[in-house]
Amino acid sequence: MHMPRNYDIAELRRLDIAHHLPAQADWQEIENLGGSRIITHAEGCYIHDGDGNRILDGMAGLWCVNVGYGRDELADVAAEQMRELPYYNSFFKTANPPAVLLADKISSLTGGRLPHVFFNSSGSEANDTIFRLVRQYWKLKGEPKRQTFISRINAYHGSTLAGVGLGGMKAMHNIGGDPIPGVEHVRQPYWYNEGRDMSPEAFGTACAEAIESKILEVGPENVAAFIGEPVQGAGGVIIPPANYWPQVEAICRKYGILMICDEVICGFGRTGNMWGHETMGVKPDIIAMAKGLSSGYLPISAVAVSADIIKVMKTGGDFVHGYTYSGHPVSAAVALRNIEIMEREGLVEKVRSETGPYLAKALATLNDHPLVGEARSVGLLGAVEIVADKATGARFGGAEGTAGPMVRDICIANGLMVRGIRDSIVMCPPLIITTSQIDDLVGIIRKSLDEAEPKLRAF
Ligand code: PMP
Repeated sequence: MHMPRNYDIAELRRLDIAHHLPAQADWQEIENLGGSRIITHAEGCYIHDGDGNRILDGMAGLWCVNVGYGRDELADVAAEQMRELPYYNSFFKTANPPAVLLADKISSLTGGRLPHVFFNSSGSEANDTIFRLVRQYWKLKGEPKRQTFISRINAYHGSTLAGVGLGGMKAMHNIGGDPIPGVEHVRQPYWYNEGRDMSPEAFGTACAEAIESKILEVGPENVAAFIGEPVQGAGGVIIPPANYWPQVEAICRKYGILMICDEVICGFGRTGNMWGHETMGVKPDIIAMAKGLSSGYLPISAVAVSADIIKVMKTGGDFVHGYTYSGHPVSAAVALRNIEIMEREGLVEKVRSETGPYLAKALATLNDHPLVGEARSVGLLGAVEIVADKATGARFGGAEGTAGPMVRDICIANGLMVRGIRDSIVMCPPLIITTSQIDDLVGIIRKSLDEAEPKLRAF
């Protein structure tokens, strides 16, 4: 293992408060806490902080470190590529070897169905690319009115303006005003919160029908595309009923609307198949991917697009869109090697046949806990709903949002990094996690729920 440097942690925390503005954070709260937790180093499935804690990373960083930490070969390949060609753009009728080879690799990972690949640096940028590409496609195709996107309430598609606009998170829309016109949001397929009075199948149908109603309301001739995460991640690991996505696909086809899957979390094996849309049994026209593409070792994202769409795009001259770091050679080289590691170690297969089913069984043992309303997972993506009353599903404090952060903080203190989303905790461990580490993960959740219960009941 790489030996960590000897940092002055107190000084780093002071500087953090003085100068560093962490992402998606309450800066006053961090100042009150005396600065951020400083993560100094990591190996395998564990992160280490400046206070000497070793923490099981139940979030794979931020849903991304699929091959785990400390892969020397990814560091080596980055160093080699930096020496050979650290950077070149793709604006000047130029390309570089890793970017071209990675595009070919991604095409083959889609079974050749989405053979054209555009690179960006982040998931948000990928969705911005999709937003502009799709609108341009319809103009070139002679249906210029098709400019409206349909998305879901509580979807997450990023933090840029198009990402926030496509996303359906009210708290994000409230910052900076209405992000962009031309996006309509429909209900999400969140059975536990919104559909328990129906069977999952009836609820799945109702949620798909909400899309059709919206299409008819807007006018099919005005709708460009539907976009959705196969499983909503940041929204709370919302796994739709099995009949939802096939019905969504049929509706999109019926009205000639493009179907886009945001695979930023679900791609690269997370749900037990290479793509979340495979797990959901559908065939999108465009997908966005990021995170697991490089396991987070360097920033890179991609948009994979069908041949039909690119054929039309080629009739339109310059696609005046792109980023300085589109097809960055070092990021692309790392992504290629990351995919090679996944294939060599059979990580997708491992999630599908071993660790995914094991996590599902382990989480099911929590169902007897008085605070657990539902424990659900698909592949290595899971959530535990925390309730005051198992029978009614009533939340603590009479309102949403108390229990998730509290149980999360107790989990972290007990050596497990998870995320608290409203009244749930969610998990997304590295794809290399072992069954005994899954036992540890679920054991810490149980212990933390036990510790949280008296505090929550005292509210
Ligand atoms: N789409 C989805 C589904 C995501 O989960 C995320 C990130 N959590 C994004 C887009 C945005 O990616 P990034 O943070 O890399 O911009």
